[in-house]
Amino acid sequence: MSITTRFAPSPTGMLHLGHAFVALDAWQRARRAGGRFLLRVEDIDANRCRPDYTRALLEDLRWLGLDWDGAVRMQSAHLPEYRIALDRLQGERLLYPCFCTRADVARSVTAPHGPDGAVYPGTCRHLSPDERARRIESGAPFALRLDLAAACIRTGRLSFVEQGRGRVDCQPERFGDVVLSRRDAVGSYHLCVTHDDAAQGVTLVSRGTDLLAATDIHRVLQALMGWPEPEYVHLPLLTGPDGRRLSKRDGADSLRGMREAGRTPADVRVLMRDASNRVAP
Ligand code: GLU
Repeated sequence: MSITTRFAPSPTGMLHLGHAFVALDAWQRARRAGGRFLLRVEDIDANRCRPDYTRALLEDLRWLGLDWDGAVRMQSAHLPEYRIALDRLQGERLLYPCFCTRADVARSVTAPHGPDGAVYPGTCRHLSPDERARRIESGAPFALRLDLAAACIRTGRLSFVEQGRGRVDCQPERFGDVVLSRRDAVGSYHLCVTHDDAAQGVTLVSRGTDLLAATDIHRVLQALMGWPEPEYVHLPLLTGPDGRRLSKRDGADSLRGMREAGRTPADVRVLMRDASNRVAP
């Protein structure tokens, strides 16, 4: 079977060595296997994403010597597709409107934090249909949350293949009722990333280990929607020589900063190798 990998950055800052490491890994896996490497720009969050970061990341990847197959997929150009997926889940009564603000959630949370932060206590899950209709009609902004308990009954126990590790059991319940449609954006990260991996025929998701836990929710969405199950490989997060995690805000660590300081793509590959050797196995 031919493989398809992807790199899916969010244009919220400049790419750094850690992004280059993930992008190069996905690119190499595809090229070595004669497969496809895709580039997707995850720009659904209009408040944080900026077109100049998109332009910069395309330039930085080309400078590094990476090429991709087909056109770049811009998530912001596909909003109706996410709406269709949401409508299907809503038709199956797996979503509910949530009127809580971030502050409401922070105030009402008693449960321990999950991988995405505060676990939603389910306040709006208990609203009556009349109350929901009344609030929606009044124009109150709302998000759509997944009723995770109902979803898990539907899917049964799930797992995924982590390359080099084998099958890993999922524990989606630790996320609680995740947001699939935000007040300010049709789709949330979890919905759009899973939708697009399926829509683009991605067979191997290679990304940072900070997203390992999110895979549990992604498997739930794949099972509910009947989307194919890709394999996964979660890569270590690179740190600087001082042991600090690299940050998108840190100009000196950015690929652009290195290039402007006279580093070549070959230098960047050496730095990446050194940084990945520093990571505990
Ligand atoms: N857009 C996400 C990020 O930049 C990555 C999504 C993924 O690889 O699954 O953190």
